[in-house]
Amino acid sequence: MATTEKFVGTPRKVTAHLTQNENLSFEKSAPGKKGYKLAPLDVPEVDAAALLGGAVRDEIGVMPELSEIEIIRHFTRLSTWNYAIDLGMYPLGSCTMKYNPRVNELVSRLEGIAEAHPYQPAHLSQGVLGIVKLLQDCLIEICGMDAITLQPAAGAHGEFTGILLARAYHASKGNARKHVLIPDSAHGTNPATAASCGYDVINIKSNAQGGVDVAALAQMVNEDTAALMLTNPSTIGVFENEIHRIADVLHDKGALLYMDGANMNALVGKTRPGDFGVDVMHLNLHKTFSTPHGGGGPGSGPVACKKILEPFLPTPVVAQGADGLLHWNYDRPDSVGRVRMLYGNFGMFVRALAYILANGPDGLRQTTEDAVLNANYIRAKLQDLYELPYNTPSMHEVVFSDKRQTKNGVKTGDIAKRLIDYGFHPYTTSFPLIVPGALMIEPTESESREELDLFVDAMRQIAREVDENPELVTSAPHSTRISRLDETTAARKPVLRWKAPPAPTPVDVDTPAKEW
Ligand SMILES: *Cc1c(COP(=O)(O)O)cnc(C)c1O
Repeated sequence: MATTEKFVGTPRKVTAHLTQNENLSFEKSAPGKKGYKLAPLDVPEVDAAALLGGAVRDEIGVMPELSEIEIIRHFTRLSTWNYAIDLGMYPLGSCTMKYNPRVNELVSRLEGIAEAHPYQPAHLSQGVLGIVKLLQDCLIEICGMDAITLQPAAGAHGEFTGILLARAYHASKGNARKHVLIPDSAHGTNPATAASCGYDVINIKSNAQGGVDVAALAQMVNEDTAALMLTNPSTIGVFENEIHRIADVLHDKGALLYMDGANMNALVGKTRPGDFGVDVMHLNLHKTFSTPHGGGGPGSGPVACKKILEPFLPTPVVAQGADGLLHWNYDRPDSVGRVRMLYGNFGMFVRALAYILANGPDGLRQTTEDAVLNANYIRAKLQDLYELPYNTPSMHEVVFSDKRQTKNGVKTGDIAKRLIDYGFHPYTTSFPLIVPGALMIEPTESESREELDLFVDAMRQIAREVDENPELVTSAPHSTRISRLDETTAARKPVLRWKAPPAPTPVDVDTPAKEW
């Protein structure tokens, strides 16, 4: 198909572009090829078996053998198959896929920071400990809380840590309590967290505005309630107006308010969870505070809490000694213990702190305002064509539904795939579950008006295509290397590793790919 036939209108962002085919590195391998050349050995050879005993491996299995340029081209070609925030808008709702400023990377690669050894003595680590302390102080201030741990490695891990704190707190009063309340709009990690911490999960239905029905909540909270886990703004991008009343209802019964802070990009510099009654919360540094995200890179999910929970924080914590030096304090008898080796993902702390300091208080507030403005710009430009299930004002993301498009047999997943043809990463589809056929769009503050307009154009053109040629949308994407995948097979029977073909040369085939 020529490019023009693939579109009802003329796409402004994309043109056809060559990408190169690339085999797996295993398939390109040829015996004896190397990416390095070492100088001749000029020290006495050591008998490895004598030194290491049974730990010595003679066989390393099948490994690809390639020259340096081949492996560089391999990964560079693969990288051209990918979409990235550095290529364009990445409106994956709930994920806050914001741009990661280059200064973050520069700072995190400075030798004294990147090469600091975790077991370096405290008197040689004052700089890196100072980074930890300053980041903690900034995040505590942003959240309006009293204490924090930076140990958890992601949001879900932060939730787990936060609910462990709640459990330890209740247990210290003689009763760990039985259940955790969770609204039906919550991210799936919330119920998983509560269950992992040994609590029963009780669901709360959202009201017509997409928030918690406070009267219904008051009926449900009792002396068995450990906590309510609440995302604010909620997963449909709505601010919980009655949050302080919700906090009162819980506190009256001795229960705690846990806030899933993954959506803090809508609040930073404007309002503080600690001030509206939250007892414990996590942050996603890899969402709100830039730092690379996606592609499986490291994350960081600090947990901030009020004073009553501070004794239970994971060990160690940063403390200032009598000598005035910072050090790690392991003497924490009430701690829930460690949740992560060493101190957390330090590189992410550096990036988040660089981001916070580069923006400053005014910049962070501006960021929040721009994120909310951008989401509402998209809402205003698309709400005549896409159904808006909740009329409550949007914060940092806007959720539409595919109600009007399903009349022509087109679903949210089809529109998302069609968006790829227009040069955008898809938005989040079919989530939150309380909106059937959801299109969840979060532009973040990173996007300029020009990029937002390109996105709006694409979404409007797709809506026209749904009317004029729905088959074009339901069979998308058309411009990618691989068109529609069989998603069921991909999910049920993933082939996750290379298997050596029945070999002409004898090779050691590891356990075959698991089929399930
Ligand atoms: C992203 C997200 C999480 C989970 O965070 P991870 O870092 O992916 O583990 C939890 N809750 C909400 C609302 C989120 O958006």
